[in-house]
Amino acid sequence: MMGKRSVVTAMALLCVGSMALSGCESGEASKTASDGKPIVTVQIVKDARTEKMSELGWTKDLEAACDCHIEWHETVSSSWDQQKKASLAAEEVCIAAIGGFGSGDMAEYASLFLDLTDELDNMPNLKRLFEAEPYAQALSTTADGKILGAPSVGRTITARTSNHMFINKQWLDKLGLQVPTTWDELEQVLKAFKTEDPNGNGEADEIPLDFNSPGTGGFGLFQPNVLLSSLGIVVGNGPLGMYVDNGEVKNYLTDERYKEVVEFLHRLWQDGVISNEAFTHDWSKYTSTAKGEGDTAKVGVTWMWTPSDIFGTELADQYITIPSLKASADQEELPVWSYNGDELAYQVDRAVISANPSNKEAALKLVDAFYSPDISVQAHYGSFGTCVKKNGEGDYTVLDPADSTKNASDWQFANSLADGAPGWIGGGMKLELPAQHTEYREADKVYDDDFSRVDFNNDVFYANMPLTMEQSRTVSANNTGITQGAMSKFAQWVTKGGVDEEWDAYVDNLQKNNLDDNIKTYQQVYDSFKKTMNKVGVDYNTINDEG
Ligand code: MG
Repeated sequence: MMGKRSVVTAMALLCVGSMALSGCESGEASKTASDGKPIVTVQIVKDARTEKMSELGWTKDLEAACDCHIEWHETVSSSWDQQKKASLAAEEVCIAAIGGFGSGDMAEYASLFLDLTDELDNMPNLKRLFEAEPYAQALSTTADGKILGAPSVGRTITARTSNHMFINKQWLDKLGLQVPTTWDELEQVLKAFKTEDPNGNGEADEIPLDFNSPGTGGFGLFQPNVLLSSLGIVVGNGPLGMYVDNGEVKNYLTDERYKEVVEFLHRLWQDGVISNEAFTHDWSKYTSTAKGEGDTAKVGVTWMWTPSDIFGTELADQYITIPSLKASADQEELPVWSYNGDELAYQVDRAVISANPSNKEAALKLVDAFYSPDISVQAHYGSFGTCVKKNGEGDYTVLDPADSTKNASDWQFANSLADGAPGWIGGGMKLELPAQHTEYREADKVYDDDFSRVDFNNDVFYANMPLTMEQSRTVSANNTGITQGAMSKFAQWVTKGGVDEEWDAYVDNLQKNNLDDNIKTYQQVYDSFKKTMNKVGVDYNTINDEG
């Protein structure tokens, strides 16, 4: 489920939601309830599955902690992007906002948000987190030294990547095939999946390979650009095409190895082994297709967080996770794998407070309460009693879903803000999780060899690197043309071919759209971020250790 959010956010760019504003005004007069307690307006951006905030028991604990009433303004993440743009343009933000704003907004609209640097004495839980995890504080600090947003720290999430590659092992066994280790072997396996009825229902209904549809806004998770790993490129959190090789920011969009991936995918498309809906289906269609029909699987190979998440608990056992493939059997450079482990354990700007909030004291208490152990756990997994058993101070057991029709992640998202919650999971707390919540660990371990060839301190485009306002403006001005040029060609080349003939003109076009300018800017961003990290003493090889 980690990382699914990024996909949802990416998809939000595609669908125009309702244009309602937040319903909050900056600098609005302070409101008081009939019992004399202050009212704090809170913008919350959440998953579509999450219940109304006022119906979640743990939000009463929040109100007790801030000694205030919360007026929730709730928006589903898929319709937030449009609303956010309108809210920012109108300078209308609620007293507090959870999950609505990111580091780009902090750069562009810094004046709308309260600098928490001087408020930390009134935020004891957040202060304790920053003292224990200087890295979290460094990440939360803008390029000009302000803390405009409070983070989410999940030091029990030990995955290095959201992208795990699955193949139906039952189908392989049925057809007497080996687990593929190269692109050619994968192609042979996919062809057999297409024609030899591995699900045994007498119909050629198998979809050998499927993926999360790459949108027009750039690549996200669970997409076939992951195959660049086969050729030594660590695909990660970076903006479209950006990656880091030995401390140097590069972009794969104009790299010959990207062309090789596109050519391979076109070959698979001609073989008819890629879902014919791969470029058009939405998230819901993609994930429901993979769940097959009853105990009949339909999809042979795809990428996701865990087998249960994508194939459902009934089919999950048919699938195994496979390591990075070699592009060819005799290649010299060994494969790596995609990395976004820093984003999984640390997210920035999960909670913000408006620049001149009414009821400021209550607002600070409210945001700070998210970082207490009890509320951190409940905001992440659901209320005590129904979702979590509190065994003692700092000692919790997350319970199996009380609703047997829901899998662990659907249950978690219904009852909590899951990994989107501001808070601090870790810091020595004892947390026992149901098996479905830790299934990812087995999947992630498969990539040990691939990751042994990645130096996390020098080969990763880090998540959460702050940009100055000027840098932010430069890259977003350039990004429009780069993204349009790249994504339309990707879909066209995979489905219709032509990459070889059009390559040079395509590279020219991206350069005309200032791709090199963006690489240079991101190098500055990266260098300055590395300097801060070195000062704090961060070793990225330990970021995904439990702590
Ligand atoms: Mg069949």
